[in-house]
Amino acid sequence: MPLLVFSLSDGLRRLGVQSQETIHDVSQVFGVSDVATFLRRGLEVLDIENLRLASEPIDPADVVIHAPMHQPGKIICVGLNYHDHCREQSIDPPPYPILFSKFANAVADPNGTVTRPIATEMLDLECELAVVIGRRASRIGREQARDVIFGYTILNDITMRDLQLEDRQWLRAKSSDGFAPMGPVVVTADEVEDPHALRLRSSVNGETWQDSTTAEMIDVATVVAFVSRTITLEPGDVIATGTPAGVGHYQDPPRYLVGGDRLRCEIDGIGALDSVVVDEEPRADDHAAAAGVA
Ligand code: MG
Repeated sequence: MPLLVFSLSDGLRRLGVQSQETIHDVSQVFGVSDVATFLRRGLEVLDIENLRLASEPIDPADVVIHAPMHQPGKIICVGLNYHDHCREQSIDPPPYPILFSKFANAVADPNGTVTRPIATEMLDLECELAVVIGRRASRIGREQARDVIFGYTILNDITMRDLQLEDRQWLRAKSSDGFAPMGPVVVTADEVEDPHALRLRSSVNGETWQDSTTAEMIDVATVVAFVSRTITLEPGDVIATGTPAGVGHYQDPPRYLVGGDRLRCEIDGIGALDSVVVDEEPRADDHAAAAGVA
């Protein structure tokens, strides 16, 4: 079932369960206001009928939706994890998953803004299926990976291609403030029959950029098991599983995001994650655009 974090006119974050056309506020029932805390406390949604009875239905039109995890312990990302994304770069898939990270400062709400830093001329998007970890996992095997996956959400791995290519360190290019819009819901794993049979798409101003399937993804279970060999995964951690072909940088000619662009990332069975790009305002004391490290 879809879990989400939302607020009403008072601005307080609440944990919700999406049920048909309504949202149920289950913050009081569970005593938590976000998905990561829900998971860290080992809570489970066992009976949706009881939750419906215990909470008033709320009209989705009355809520502001927030990222399901606004302070995740880890956001681990996988590079070059789609066959079609490797083909568009004329490279072979790597022999093992390429890992990098985004920090919690990158998390952004659905329907929010993505700020284009003045340090970049090459802002790009990457629609990704994100795994939400439900149980602690250390040195697990592939066959155990499904047991530790609580659910799935959408993450837009916003990237500055010029900085990524300049220093070959992906962290700087991908973890600016707000570079990980996430949501709108976490769909529990039991409702995702096959995470490798999901259509995922991205569009800019209504024009499709990416339209692929997670069948092109190399493997979710392998990635989870691989990470757990050396990094203990905790409830609420997020693994963004890479992006398919069609990002702006590899279009012909290349295309990049600018202020005013409307971004949408969609994955079947999860929903749509919308953002709007705004250009960062220069400051009098701004050194962000300076070349090099001097
Ligand atoms: Mg990515």
